[in-house]
Amino acid sequence: MQLSTPIEQITRVGPIYQKRLKKLGIKTVGDLLLHLPHRYEDFSNISPIAKVKINETCCLQGKILEIKTIRTFRKRMSITEAVITDATGAVKAVWFNQPYLVNVLKPKDNICLVGKIVSDKYGLCLSNPAYEKLGEGELTHTGRIISIYPETSGLSSRWLRYVIKQVLINSLNETKEILPDKVIKEHRLLPLKNALWQVHFPDSMSLAQKARERFSFEGLFVLSLWILMERNKISSKKAFAVPLNLALVQRFVKSLPFKLTDAQKKATWQILKDIEKPRPMNRLLEGDVGSGKTVVATIAALNLMRAGYQTVIMAPTEILAKQHFKTVSKLLEGFKLDVGLLTGKEDKFVSKKLNNDTIEISRKKLLEKALHNEINILIGTHALIQDQVKFEKLGLVILDEQHRFGVEQRAKLTKQETLPHLLSMTATPIPRTLALTIYGDLDLSLIKELPKGRKKVITKVVPPIDRNKTYSFIKKEVRKGRQVFVICPRIEAKRSDLDGKKVGPQSWSEVKAVKEEYEKLSKKVFPDLRVGILHGKLAMKEKERTMRDFHNKKTDILVSTSVVEVGVDIPNASVMLIEGAERFGLAQLHQFRGRVGRSKYQSYCFLFTDSPSRKTNQRLKALITCDNGFELAEKDLQIRGPGDFSGQRQWGIPDIAMASLKDMSLIEKTRTAAKQLLEEDPKLKKYPALQDKLKVFQERIHLE
Ligand code: ADP
Ligand code: MG
Repeated sequence: MQLSTPIEQITRVGPIYQKRLKKLGIKTVGDLLLHLPHRYEDFSNISPIAKVKINETCCLQGKILEIKTIRTFRKRMSITEAVITDATGAVKAVWFNQPYLVNVLKPKDNICLVGKIVSDKYGLCLSNPAYEKLGEGELTHTGRIISIYPETSGLSSRWLRYVIKQVLINSLNETKEILPDKVIKEHRLLPLKNALWQVHFPDSMSLAQKARERFSFEGLFVLSLWILMERNKISSKKAFAVPLNLALVQRFVKSLPFKLTDAQKKATWQILKDIEKPRPMNRLLEGDVGSGKTVVATIAALNLMRAGYQTVIMAPTEILAKQHFKTVSKLLEGFKLDVGLLTGKEDKFVSKKLNNDTIEISRKKLLEKALHNEINILIGTHALIQDQVKFEKLGLVILDEQHRFGVEQRAKLTKQETLPHLLSMTATPIPRTLALTIYGDLDLSLIKELPKGRKKVITKVVPPIDRNKTYSFIKKEVRKGRQVFVICPRIEAKRSDLDGKKVGPQSWSEVKAVKEEYEKLSKKVFPDLRVGILHGKLAMKEKERTMRDFHNKKTDILVSTSVVEVGVDIPNASVMLIEGAERFGLAQLHQFRGRVGRSKYQSYCFLFTDSPSRKTNQRLKALITCDNGFELAEKDLQIRGPGDFSGQRQWGIPDIAMASLKDMSLIEKTRTAAKQLLEEDPKLKKYPALQDKLKVFQERIHLE
């Protein structure tokens, strides 16, 4: 067995377990071995039976005197009882509903037990202890430091320990060290094999810690290498040098109904300067919700079009793609160019000759137009990166909230030799430390100011007793003609409910929360107002109708999931109400808040929380005073760690590296180490194991 061996080839991992492992993203032996425990329990001290105390969790070793199973028919239960003795005394162990134990454990067997001492009517006993026979090799589950894995339905820590141990025994001889010797020595890291044993079956707590440190280092090191290599790869490629058409840009800016902010101007300039060069641009445009990134991107696309090149804009959802299509074609009215829309699910494709109206054309025609440079800007969803979509002269790829797009993906879109320029837009404020690591291969343009004249959104944390007051306030706002968003968080469903179901941001548990809230608001709280509902499980047509109705003021209140659907622009909305606010990160709450306050009306953000914890409420209160997404993101990072940033899945970073992203000094260390290695060996020719690791990493990061 090697690290790349698929889990299907591990003996004793049947189809059911394969499925459960895959749900955790574990596809290979290597993945399984990097599924790390999240904590340890130390049962290395064996207590003499005579010394055990009630309520104590302890580890005992002794001989089984007798063992039997009793069935209680009334309660339909089976109870297995054993008496264990050691040199100091005897104690009873009791297991419920595990009748097979009498076939596994026999009188005279020497065993090791870990469990809690409770008292029943006959005295002290061990309740449902973990057990293991002695004399069958090294202990795995008892009598040592044992690893506890994150709880997942259907995968117990006991099962994982068992399988991981088999894998370690059978695969480690063939496992090659990934990190260069020099790096291991310089940073005093545990070598791979040793670290794998110690992280799962540690000899001491400090060795477990050392092992984890090694994997954190490795994770960030590989990430840094990948990012630096990606950067080198891109700068060795050619791109179309697009001359700046200043007169055209000025004419466009004059045509806008508003003045660009200084930040917008600066970002635009940086982009236009980048694409003048014959090297591919690789730029991240980061700005709060409503800061006006779309206009900036549109200027770039316009400039390209006049030079004869095409632009593609990719949005994360169909709703957003359609919105971009509308916005961009509206902004470019009077500049005579063709804008197309291509989405996946639906077989409807629209093209717009701007002096005509929007017309529908077949997908086939749309693709032909892309291929023959008869479409200047093509906007769409992921459907755009399917194989059939090829451009004749693609000059620029604009990504909205997509984060990652590699050289290969860029190249795939074109027939040409050159690489298109890349502009990635995000409203997710990412702290600098993180940006350096995750986007180290991108240049950064920041839009830190909002357009002038926007009123600050008034934010309130609302305790349960003030709920009704807030509802009355909302009624008043609606009477004034305003509209309201209500966002519901995902509710934790019972574990058994989720078995076998996909647990994602659009899992039914979130849908259920939205439906319940919708029922409550439409029937009980606001029976005389028009309430709409939006979630991921609705059919596309339905979603569209809901959005259209809200946009056309045919509904007053829109109850929605926390996902992307709220990315739409409804300037008339003045209230953002968030249920279960404590479940969201500050930066995400700030994003929701950005959906209101987009017009001249005073807007409000109400954070509903049922959490009595003062700490939680203190955290939420940061939103009242702070309306800077970057600061809030920093706070999130410090309080809750990096796992909270939306879109983290798209970064495709291993969990262990994710967890280390808070650690600035480790980030710097690994980055320096990666740089040094690449200076010495830019293609990593001397490190085949590291190359393999990067290959896997790369495949994954682009699959996300
Ligand atoms: P983002 O994509 O950054 O969230 P948008 O580009 O959608 O923001 O812009 C939000 C709204 O602000 C749009 O309605 C847009 O027309 C408007 N807008 C953009 N720039 C300005 C500006 N400089 N002044 C006033 N309004 C602006
Ligand atoms: Mg936007």
